[in-house]
Amino acid sequence: MTNTMKAERLVILKPGREAPTMRRHPWIFSGSITMVQGNPGPGDLVAVYSAEGDQLAWGHYSPASQIRIRLFSWAQDIPDGPGFWRQRLQRAIGLRESLRRSSGTTAYRLVNAESDGIPGLIVDQYGDVIVIQLLTAGTDALRDTFADLLMEMIAPLTIYERSDVDVRGQEGLLPVAGLLRGVEPPPLVDITELGLTYRVDIRNGHKTGFYLDQRENRQRFRALAATQDQSAAPVMLNVFSYTGAFSVCGLAAGMARVVNIDASEDALALGQRNVAANGYDSSRITDIQADAFVALRKLRQQSERFDLIVLDPPKFASAQRDVQRASRGYKDINLQAFHLLKPGGTLTTFSCSGAISEDLFQKIVFGAALDAGRDIQITGRLSQGSDHPVALTFPEGAYLKGLTCRAVE
Ligand code: SAH
Repeated sequence: MTNTMKAERLVILKPGREAPTMRRHPWIFSGSITMVQGNPGPGDLVAVYSAEGDQLAWGHYSPASQIRIRLFSWAQDIPDGPGFWRQRLQRAIGLRESLRRSSGTTAYRLVNAESDGIPGLIVDQYGDVIVIQLLTAGTDALRDTFADLLMEMIAPLTIYERSDVDVRGQEGLLPVAGLLRGVEPPPLVDITELGLTYRVDIRNGHKTGFYLDQRENRQRFRALAATQDQSAAPVMLNVFSYTGAFSVCGLAAGMARVVNIDASEDALALGQRNVAANGYDSSRITDIQADAFVALRKLRQQSERFDLIVLDPPKFASAQRDVQRASRGYKDINLQAFHLLKPGGTLTTFSCSGAISEDLFQKIVFGAALDAGRDIQITGRLSQGSDHPVALTFPEGAYLKGLTCRAVE
């Protein structure tokens, strides 16, 4: 047995359960553990050993969670202290350097949790404002360490915490939100993305305020919209529009009219401000505050048809057990969207449910096209942006998938 003496707290795996850890998967489930020594509490550092007594990895312990340990080091030496985390943050931030240098964008994800070697930590930058989420017992215990290091490394005006998310419940943690360092942020933080302006409500908005993961897909969409025949006054439908980021891209690319559908009045109102912030006339926008499942049917009855449709629903499946129900939901909205597509039009359709695979998603969309009686070609495959990388050791990190589907005339 090597290095046993180094670890005050350790966990021994059941015989034959070491393979995922040896392949560097960052999670150890409670069912894989045979013995826990040293009485680790929430967020404590533990060393992980195989049943044969080989030291395998280090991680944070979370007694309340089915994911009992989140691993972040496979080295022999103890991975601890600010020096270790400074290096990890530096590495993650460094990997975004080319994005920072590329012109016209001031908002990106700096740290993407497991896939950046810091399980449970999300760090998003919105100009001078940093927003963090601490999703696990391990990261919750390191709140001050991360806040101090980010102040030192990035010197933002503000570090704000948005750990008001349900998943913390699975770690036995309560929701937390509020100012961590610096000054209170303004009610809306202005960002630039690919040359367009957006106003972000970091206190109340979804995720940390904005769907940063869709940046590259917005860029693709904008390029697609720019190919539309402007003399024909092309019309766009943005379903689950949130604060209208895809709509602003459509307007920038010359769409004559944009229809937004969202259930949230606040999101639509902020969407209007985003249209104004970019200097577009609000008369080009129609907002429908409604349940998308109902609103889509209504548009069909009214014989509305669109050149471009974006379908970016919230997560329908949080776990494997939701997959069937979620699949029906995805099929229904895609079916309705295909009915609303003009010949030659393109539907850009997404799923952000990790439990729905790319393959299954394509099958669902196929089923929808078949039922709609439309002849559809896939012209593009989309995923989360490069600042939301997926470690090959952690395929669970891939959640966003999308297809661009052209209706053959
Ligand atoms: N495409 C957006 C993000 C969409 S987030 C962007 O790029 O910024 C999902 C949105 O769906 C949220 O704004 C939420 O208010 C809305 N939503 C959730 N359920 C809905 C429903 N049943 N009908 C309409 N909108 C809904």
